[in-house]
Amino acid sequence: MRVLILGVGDAFTARHFGTSALVEHDGRHVLIDCPDPIHRVLREATLRAGWSTDAASIDDIILTHLHGDHSNGLESFGFFRRFLGLSEPPRVRPRLHAATPVLERVWQKLAPAMDGRFAGAAASRLEDYFDPRPLRTDVSNDVAGLRVECRVTGHPVPTIGLLINDGAWTFGWSGDTPFEQAHVDWLARADVIVHESNRGPAHTPIERLNALDPSLRRRIRLIHLPDEFDESSTDIGMLRQGDVLRFYSATG
Ligand SMILES: [Zn+2]
Repeated sequence: MRVLILGVGDAFTARHFGTSALVEHDGRHVLIDCPDPIHRVLREATLRAGWSTDAASIDDIILTHLHGDHSNGLESFGFFRRFLGLSEPPRVRPRLHAATPVLERVWQKLAPAMDGRFAGAAASRLEDYFDPRPLRTDVSNDVAGLRVECRVTGHPVPTIGLLINDGAWTFGWSGDTPFEQAHVDWLARADVIVHESNRGPAHTPIERLNALDPSLRRRIRLIHLPDEFDESSTDIGMLRQGDVLRFYSATG
C-alpha cells in the first residue's frame, strides 16, 4: 500500500489544494476526498511523485464529508467519468463510499449542476454518475480490497475518520475533527496517522497534538493546516503535496 498526498490545505488555502490523498494497493486506487480542481490536483501530485494516475483509473472514492474543500471536485469527476474518461463502454461508474448521512445528501449538493437530461433521456440521478456504497461505522468495510474502518468525528457536519488496512499495515486518517482523545486513541492503532490541525472549534489545535505522548507523535503527520501555519510550533512532521507514504507488506 502506498499513499500519495494530493492536497494539504484547508478551506481557505491560497497556496495548496484541499486536503486529500490517493491510496494505491494491488494496482487499484482509492481517492480520499475530492476537492476542486480535481484533475489538476491529481496531475500535480502524480507528476511530482512519478505516478501516472488520473480520474480515468480511479474507481473508488471515499468521501469523508460534504464541506466543499473535500467534495467540490465530485461534479467534474462525475461528468468526466460518465461522458469523457473512458472511451469504451461499458463505462464503470466510480464507487462512492461514504457514511449514510453523507450519501443521503450528496445529491442535494450535486443535482443543480448534474441532474440534466442528456439525449432526451430522463433526468439524471446520482446513480448515473456514481455507484453509492454506504460505509458502515460498526464493522469494517471492503474498499478496493482494503479493509476500511470508519469513526464519526465531532466536526459540525457528518464526518468520518478512517483506518485503512492492507492486510499487514494500517494507515490512519483523522478526517476533519476537533481534538478528541477517543478519536486519537482509535487512530493510534495505525502505523502512520495523518491528522488534521487548524483553527476554530471545528478543528484540532496544534497544542493538543503537541501534548500527546512522544511515541505517538512520531507516527503522526500533519495535514489540513492554515497557509500561515508556523512550522516551528511543533515537532510533528508536516505533509507536502506529492509526498508518498509507503507501507510495505507481504501483499504489496
Ligand atoms: Zn470540514
